[in-house]
Amino acid sequence: MKKVLITGAAGFLGSHLCDKFINEGYQVIGMDNLITGDLKNIEHLFPNKNFEFYNHDVTTFVHIPGDLDYILHFASPASPIDYLKIPIHTLKVGALGTHNLLGLAREKNARILIASTSEVYGDPLVHPQSEDYYGNVSSIGPRGVYDEAKRFQEAITMAYHRYHGMETRIARIFNTYGPRMRLNDGRVIPAFMGQALRGEDLTVFGDGLQTRSFCFIEDQIEGLYRLLLSDYVYPVNIGNPEEMTILDFAEEVLSLTGANNRIIFKELPEDDPMQRRPDISLAKKILGWEPKVSREEGMRKPFAYFKSLSKEELYKSAHKDFSEHEHIRKN
Ligand code: UDP
Repeated sequence: MKKVLITGAAGFLGSHLCDKFINEGYQVIGMDNLITGDLKNIEHLFPNKNFEFYNHDVTTFVHIPGDLDYILHFASPASPIDYLKIPIHTLKVGALGTHNLLGLAREKNARILIASTSEVYGDPLVHPQSEDYYGNVSSIGPRGVYDEAKRFQEAITMAYHRYHGMETRIARIFNTYGPRMRLNDGRVIPAFMGQALRGEDLTVFGDGLQTRSFCFIEDQIEGLYRLLLSDYVYPVNIGNPEEMTILDFAEEVLSLTGANNRIIFKELPEDDPMQRRPDISLAKKILGWEPKVSREEGMRKPFAYFKSLSKEELYKSAHKDFSEHEHIRKN
């Protein structure tokens, strides 16, 4: 039985990866320090004898007893408001955390897949974004802590591949949605759906003409799985190329939820990318992969999930309070 370590296991992508690898017959070790993750996302796996959970912060030395075949490094705050609240830790998990996991992969002779991001393209001047575009990133802007950590992560991963001959994989993940997103994580899908369910105005930032392309979680997980098992070491975009404006998206959420809330406009956050759409020709070619789930079908799933949450969760203060993780900020 192959053994896989998944960091960020209690998060949105990480928890779905745990499910996938358990279903594919792997032994799974999930690791998370629960800063932005939630044990609720993986508690259904606790009775499974092939699943183990370690509460650990990967920015400190990572020890795993025994053999390991694969590592998937998915630990990181991933929403703009999260990495604004915990900027140093965001830098550390992308940089020091990745270093520790590459060291562990080397020690165990394991293949490692790194979760990179469309944010490495910054506010892109090339559209759609293909892997050979170097990006347009502000290193000192508010998103710099995430973008530059992920760019460093790609660089150190390639260095370990070239210098130590290690088996590495790099996924550039574009906006992904589905059940288990945190209702209050600030990202546009939970934000609009939460607002629709609470009867609040939908807050469109800027004029709403900025674009994004949303990928359903099951498609994303399949792409990541195929990339891990492929023999391709350079970065690969995984996302859905169907692009839309945020304003159109707000209207789509209103029609899906049957709500007739107003749409209001708020200030655009600094460095908010104006356009984003993955060119997935490479993924199609080398992984034989492309998204299958339409937005119309996919969006029903997170909506049903958010609707099933308790009233208390639905009305919980807008953002998660990180004060219990004060020690991390001091480190
Ligand atoms: N956005 C918005 N209203 C919100 C939250 C986000 O208009 O309440 C916009 C945000 O400015 C961005 C887009 O939606 O242009 C996607 O934002 P998200 O935080 O989901 O992720 P990003 O793709 O920017 O990393």
